Amino acid sequence: MSESLATVSYIGATILFILSLGGLSHPDTSRRGNLYGMIGMTIAVLATVFGPRVTPAGLTWIIAAMVVGGSVGLYAARTVKMTQMPELVALMHSLVGLAACLVGFANYFDPAAASEFQGAAKSIHEVEIYVGILIGAVTFSGSIIAFGKLSGKIGGKPLLLPGRHLLNLAGLLVVIWFGGAFMHAESVSAGMVPLIVMTAIALLFGIHMVMAIGGADMPVVVSMLNSYSGWAAAATGFMLSNDLLIVTGALVGSSGAILSYIMCRAMNRNFISVIAGGFGTGGGTVVAKADGEPVGEVVAVSATETAELLREAKNVIIVPGYGMAVAQAQHTVYEITQHLRAMGVNVRFGIHPVAGRMPGHMNVLLAEAKVPYDIVMEMDEINADFPDTDVAMVIGANDIVNPAAQEDPTSPIAGMPVLEVWKAKTSIVMKRSMASGYAGVDNPLFYKENNRMLFGDAKKMLEEVFVALKS
Ligand code: NDP
Repeated sequence: MSESLATVSYIGATILFILSLGGLSHPDTSRRGNLYGMIGMTIAVLATVFGPRVTPAGLTWIIAAMVVGGSVGLYAARTVKMTQMPELVALMHSLVGLAACLVGFANYFDPAAASEFQGAAKSIHEVEIYVGILIGAVTFSGSIIAFGKLSGKIGGKPLLLPGRHLLNLAGLLVVIWFGGAFMHAESVSAGMVPLIVMTAIALLFGIHMVMAIGGADMPVVVSMLNSYSGWAAAATGFMLSNDLLIVTGALVGSSGAILSYIMCRAMNRNFISVIAGGFGTGGGTVVAKADGEPVGEVVAVSATETAELLREAKNVIIVPGYGMAVAQAQHTVYEITQHLRAMGVNVRFGIHPVAGRMPGHMNVLLAEAKVPYDIVMEMDEINADFPDTDVAMVIGANDIVNPAAQEDPTSPIAGMPVLEVWKAKTSIVMKRSMASGYAGVDNPLFYKENNRMLFGDAKKMLEEVFVALKS
């Protein structure tokens, strides 16, 4: 493929990526957006693999690597469960970081790449390598820890080392100092020492940064690492002088940054305090008072009683959370919704921006069950309607409906906007036990007078509710 054809293909792919991002901004156009992205990526890969910079000997290696990588990717995509999606995404971000590191080191060793640059261009190239490896290493280790936290292999409790801000600052100063040493190194072997020290510090920084972040802040971390992976790809593009990689990386980096901003706003947090860490505690524990007594009384209901409450209601709001994803209850939820709507009940869904374990998690599940978009409302659109609602049905959600965020200034999640389900005439919480949610915080909703608990697996309980509703 000639240089000019490759350039034209790159421009085409860039336009398709931009159209793809535009399409993904709305459920109606998201399929088209995905299609644009797939076509753009196919063009980008073909133009790179068969482009002017790949030698015939290199082509064999690339195709072999693509077959291996493609097969692993295909297998992972086909077998991964919807609930494992967030951790798979985190793992993929780590690979982008690792690739940036490897390309950086390879570029530094490569005598051909070194002889391409002289004088100021050489210095710029070295800065690209240093910064590229830095971002790549932070992304790599941070994403591995995020993977561990999302998959439950590492606890959600924030690790708060004494003097952790000072540690981070000291790490930054050392990285800058070694950056100077790297730039002034006489030879490749002399430059390797500062490069390796910096990589080690960056890896430790990535681990420390994500370990210090509490369960409740994880949504921001997921989107932040998404953004970092974009910047790591852009840095790789600079190192390889590949314009498409720079543009694509910048698109991912900036859209991830915008998403981080949206997630921060959804949680009423600022970005710096997220990085500083400590918001939310451990996850998945049964919360009890210091003396071991449960906090208050809960009223349990049966599926039949739930069906009764729903049958008598005029307005119902369903609030899905992570438990709906675990139970794969979205199809049954929609069957109940259709049944109630046919009976003239006004049923709508209230979606919290951080519900589930990844941005848009609930929207994806509801779309899969073919729930019409016009009854799926965002938190800000529906929160004022709870006082006029007869039944708020909470399905496997916990942190996103926790009144402590508003009522208890000492709560670890104080200030986080939540769906105000307790303002409905009756709220019904469907979950298996009294265990806390991801943020590990007790939920006073369960003990409110107008709240009922329907204990059990969400899918099983909903099926029972549906049977009772039909009878
Ligand atoms: P939570 O984690 O707060 O609560 C989910 C609840 O679902 C649990 O308390 C659990 O209770 C219940 N559950 C689990 N399995 C089942 C099942 N099979 N049937 C019924 N219930 C079940 O989830 P939310 O969606 O309310 O809130 C999301 C949390 O995750 C927030 O803290 C958010 O910060 C965090 N987070 C969000 C990310 C995002 O991008 N959206 C990313 C990372 C973290 P029990 O065990 O008793 O059944």
